[in-house]
Amino acid sequence: MKPTRRQFNRALALGAGAQFIPNLYAQTEPRKTGYCIVGLGRISMQHFMPAIKTSPKAQVTALVSGHRDKAERMAAEYGVPASSIYSYDDYDAIAGNPNIDAVYIALPNSMHAEYSIRAAKAGKHVLCEKPMSTTVAEAREMIAACQRAKKKLMIGYRCHLEPVNQRAVQLIREGRLGKIQAIESAFGFNIKPNEWRTQRKMAGGGPLMDVGIYSLNACRYLTGEEPVEIDAHSSVIDHDGRFTDIEENISWTMTFPSGVLASCNSTYGASMPGFYRVHGSQGMLHLENAFNYEGLLLRADINGAEPFMMPSPSPDPAHFAAEAGHFAECIQQDKQNKAPGEEGLRDIELMMRIYDSCKRNAG
Ligand code: NAD
Repeated sequence: MKPTRRQFNRALALGAGAQFIPNLYAQTEPRKTGYCIVGLGRISMQHFMPAIKTSPKAQVTALVSGHRDKAERMAAEYGVPASSIYSYDDYDAIAGNPNIDAVYIALPNSMHAEYSIRAAKAGKHVLCEKPMSTTVAEAREMIAACQRAKKKLMIGYRCHLEPVNQRAVQLIREGRLGKIQAIESAFGFNIKPNEWRTQRKMAGGGPLMDVGIYSLNACRYLTGEEPVEIDAHSSVIDHDGRFTDIEENISWTMTFPSGVLASCNSTYGASMPGFYRVHGSQGMLHLENAFNYEGLLLRADINGAEPFMMPSPSPDPAHFAAEAGHFAECIQQDKQNKAPGEEGLRDIELMMRIYDSCKRNAG
């Protein structure tokens, strides 16, 4: 209950004003950042939206979907008014909704650029899923559109905010592994037929664009360097209709300016749990389930000492709640975010170089 001025003054005089202080602070908390969820699919409905419920900084305030009944069900669950449900056709009307601060783009890859650019034009900040886009030109246009609109752009690189991945980075930066010599990483899964992910037009490529991007991005954040040389190969083994348009397997090596060599694999033809191993002159680290939502396990063996182990908490509060909260905080405090558009653009440029190398090697 809010105290009257008289009660408050009396309590202060009695030295008991502190009991009201949390309330006073609560009143000065910034308003929660309102997210408009664009695309009601697996990642938004099963992960991002439930996570936002736990965020003190963010909330779902609007939805965009081609399925009105699904949108109404989700609106009821998240307290979104019917007037804040949009279709893809009337998407631009989000401009007139003051409860939307930012959009979360969770559409097939080929739609990321268009819906991010339209959001910026509507005066909204943009949190866009990875991969940022399917071409370098689109990624550049997204950055330019957000800059023109003076809106923030963040790409959904969860691992940049995930504590176990960040501990691995810290061990390397502290020099605990000595000089890094080599990195191995992989991530893939056995894809079902008829997914948009198997259509180049929708996905921009195959497993590299979808999950190989995690290994690529990890090699960059682990070394803190950008690769100078890339060599890549791809193949299709299963001629069952899933891979008429995209690669099934892809394997690439990268040389970094310091001389670190990285070797990565990705596939849509087998279960390939995400991991990385970093080999240094004084030790090595291994992150199991490195890119999963939970069950991460870091083990570092340094100079024969007892192994350093760090599991992710279960259930893991990091990932999507951290991502939504971090971007909300950046909006509220006008700060740069940890995975801006330029970070997404670098991966798109490198993935295009990986595909070019595959083509050259295939002759
Ligand atoms: P999904 O297929 O489950 O959802 C896609 C949504 O887009 C659906 O609601 C669908 O109705 C809608 N859509 C609108 N127009 C469409 C069209 N023409 N064709 C197909 N769908 C259309 O996909 P998802 O797994 O939620 O992935 C969405 C995005 O999120 C992808 O870019 C993916 O790379 C990314 N993602 C990120 C993570 C992560 O951990 N950061 C995990 C999974 C997916």
